[in-house]
Amino acid sequence: MHNPRLPGATHLECTATGERFESEALQRLSPAGKPLFARYDLAAVSGDFTPERVATRRADLWRYAEVLPVRDPAMQIGLGEGWTPLLDAPRLATRLDVGRVWVKDEGQNPTGSFKARGMALAVSRAKELGAAELAVPTAGNAGSAAAAYGAAAGMPVHVVAPTDTPQPIVEEIRALGADLQLLDGLISDCAQLVKQGVERHGWWDLSTLKEPYRVEGKKTMGYEVFEQLGGRLPDAIVYPTGGGTGLIGMWKAFHEMEALGWIGPERPRMYSVQAAGCAPMVRAWEAGVEDAGFWEGAYTYASGLRVPGAVGDFLILRALRESGGAAVAVPDHEMAEWVAYMGSDTGVFAAPEGGAVAAAVQRLRASGHIRADDEVVLFNTGSGLKYVGMTPLD
Ligand SMILES: *Cc1c(COP(=O)(O)O)cnc(C)c1O
Repeated sequence: MHNPRLPGATHLECTATGERFESEALQRLSPAGKPLFARYDLAAVSGDFTPERVATRRADLWRYAEVLPVRDPAMQIGLGEGWTPLLDAPRLATRLDVGRVWVKDEGQNPTGSFKARGMALAVSRAKELGAAELAVPTAGNAGSAAAAYGAAAGMPVHVVAPTDTPQPIVEEIRALGADLQLLDGLISDCAQLVKQGVERHGWWDLSTLKEPYRVEGKKTMGYEVFEQLGGRLPDAIVYPTGGGTGLIGMWKAFHEMEALGWIGPERPRMYSVQAAGCAPMVRAWEAGVEDAGFWEGAYTYASGLRVPGAVGDFLILRALRESGGAAVAVPDHEMAEWVAYMGSDTGVFAAPEGGAVAAAVQRLRASGHIRADDEVVLFNTGSGLKYVGMTPLD
């Protein structure tokens, strides 16, 4: 069977300086120490890559192949990631006093979280470009997604996670055949151990935004919301933010969609939700600064939000600012309360991160950021099943 090559990216671009780099070799951060973005010849693909054509394609994220970096279709390592349901949630909307609420249920991805999207792309591309062994520091879900895609690709995976990572995730990582090291510390401490493996053994580091392709997988959420709403964007998107790839990715997708002629200059207001015990973006947002810095003493039972420092902080804050959005912090007990409301109102057993989003909408509604006639998309980024046994810390 003959598989035609896909166009892939034209080059990589430093998100801080705009400097260009080769996209057909493995690249990490730019020399400025900032994330790289893949860029595409959008004018060249726009004739075939239309919403009408895409509508007839496979129901996973590879339907967006022209704006993804993988060139050889045989290198698309897939487990059924993406094209998760966007669920109309009228009872949750009533409870929140918001015009229309949709829940994008990312818990239905392989390995039960939206981390599958990013790892599908990062692992496919690492394989395509010749990486041998993969490694990732993780608060949990990125580790199981890396383990799954590494297994599917036939590549060894090293995962370093904190000792208090939820037990279902620990067992999942082990069952998926990865080499797991548990460390008494935070994800930032785990990153140091991965760095040693990179230096000593040549591991390919899949850390958030330290390679350019996880964000390419995450951006497909932006394309999907547009398609699933019948070719438009909502008034607001509310998103639980750790390292921020989801938010940054969707913001990138909207720029691409405008260049492709799918949308005009309109954008949803982007809201970033963090835990009260780890809220570097909220602190930076409130102070009006460009860089978030490091959050000391981070804690929350929403392990995906226990990310004290993010290399893409300036990109998150820029998207919030340019979209007219905001950043909100939520204590753990409110997350748990809203997990229960979401469950009984919608039938979705949300992760604490999903509960945090619903709790944030209530706060944003009270403060007037979200209005009674808004149409809002809430992201539930993971399945509640992965947090069984975890209890709120504040
Ligand atoms: C990783 C994770 C997050 C944070 O996502 P980022 O895109 O890195 O900000 C949110 N929710 C869950 C369930 C996660 O696993």
